[in-house]
Amino acid sequence: MNRYEDQLQAAARFIRNNDDFLVVSHVSPDGDAIGSTGAVGFLLQLLGKSYTLINEGRTPNKYQMLLGNQPIVDYSLETPSRRFGRVIAVDCADFARIGEVHNAFEPDVKLLNIDHHPTNDLYGNVNLVRPDAAATVEILFDLAQTLEIEWTQPLATSIYAGLLTDTGGFRYSNTTPNVFSIAEKMLRYGAEGAVLAELLLEKMTFPQIQLLREALSTLSFTEDRRIGWIVVSTDLLNRVGAADEDSEGLVNIPRNVEGVEVGLLFKQKDTNAVKVSLRSSGKADVSQIAKRLGGGGHVRAAGCTVEGTLNEVVDRLVEAVSAEL
Ligand code: 5GP
Ligand code: MN
Repeated sequence: MNRYEDQLQAAARFIRNNDDFLVVSHVSPDGDAIGSTGAVGFLLQLLGKSYTLINEGRTPNKYQMLLGNQPIVDYSLETPSRRFGRVIAVDCADFARIGEVHNAFEPDVKLLNIDHHPTNDLYGNVNLVRPDAAATVEILFDLAQTLEIEWTQPLATSIYAGLLTDTGGFRYSNTTPNVFSIAEKMLRYGAEGAVLAELLLEKMTFPQIQLLREALSTLSFTEDRRIGWIVVSTDLLNRVGAADEDSEGLVNIPRNVEGVEVGLLFKQKDTNAVKVSLRSSGKADVSQIAKRLGGGGHVRAAGCTVEGTLNEVVDRLVEAVSAEL
């Protein structure tokens, strides 16, 4: 048995031997976060376990259909009236990524950490971490097989959705043969590939297209055009009525320009904090840059939140990235 096999068995034991779980993913959840939260929910449901799904941040509308009959509580709107002793955290590279939801943990909580980030610091009592997985849902596929569950359409849909979004529609370098092999099985179990691709990757809301139009006018490059970036102020977000997730994907625009090594998106959170998304064309390891600034992620896709005004943070990041190129 290899180490990953051991981890799968330990995770399966954690689930089989316990009950009454809190399932949580990272703040401002994205496709893999919601897909993973929902998939663990469906798994627990199939095993007859009771569970509660809580994330900090709302579930973007387009992901609602993945959840079927299971709501995810938004901790920023509703604090639970009780605490939980058994937690399953998915797609969270470190404990801080769980956000405020940790306030709902018992002091002697036992935590299962399931994740695919190379920067994961193994904060769980049980850790199921495979950094070469394209998405956390890829690991959940293996866990479902280990638990010998009967596949259902909602579970297959959640797993397919996480693969689809974290591979950018099966295009990024994390799109391995194993990803296609799992995706193929999920289609057989009822996931609707075309419907999910249209809903999760193609469709834009009206505020989203207005945001794109305005954000493009902020597109800037260093003189050598190896770094490009887009800036989204709170002012702009409010003016077009955009939701937090509407800026998703904007960071790919500068990164996709010929010659650009690193694309950046600066999204203002408030007057003194900026969320930074970093995307690399392959030369720079942006996870290390983000990690040094308190964040983390993958070699080609990482993020962090940095204190300062928009201008200060732009200058700081462009300098930090230039030093790596
Ligand atoms: P995004 O730029 O789309 O928010 O995130 C890109 C990647 O970096 C994702 O894998 C995400 O989980 C990770 N990431 C984003 N922000 C943070 C952060 O503040 N801390 C850590 N550890 N990872 C982050
Ligand atoms: Mn992920």
